[in-house]
Amino acid sequence: MECIFCKIANGEIPSKTLYEDEQFRVILDIGAATRGHALILPKKHADNLFELPDELAAEVMKLAKKMALTLKGKLHCDGLNLVQNNGAAAGQTVSHFHLHVIPRYEGDNQNINWVPGQPSQDELESVRKEITE
Ligand code: AMP
Ligand code: ZN
Repeated sequence: MECIFCKIANGEIPSKTLYEDEQFRVILDIGAATRGHALILPKKHADNLFELPDELAAEVMKLAKKMALTLKGKLHCDGLNLVQNNGAAAGQTVSHFHLHVIPRYEGDNQNINWVPGQPSQDELESVRKEITE
């Protein structure tokens, strides 16, 4: 088993663990964007959201909310981002599903942004059809 997040999630490699249960481990990101930046790792390997079993997908959001409340309560952050990258094209660098829980502080100078496009109504309608039909 070569996956580093499998090893961390299952306790074979030490980590700064914030929370653990049967299905998940929550750790501090070693490249923390802000104070308290956490990663939710399922113990069972899935490469990404496309591969994540439905039951874990549902549970991960409940855990995200729990961690969000904990981080807000303990670190008094002013806001919080959930970020979840899938595939290299989307910036995923570790091929084991993980959800970033990133506390935000006024003036923290971090950016979790995209450049807004200006799609026409026709373009929006075209993609809506492609997705739904
Ligand atoms: P992503 O770009 O969404 O795949 O995010 C991967 C994240 O994992 C980055 O924010 C890294 O800083 C973090 N990371 C990589 N290796 C470790 C590790 N050994 N322990 C904790 N966080 C890690
Ligand atoms: Zn893994």
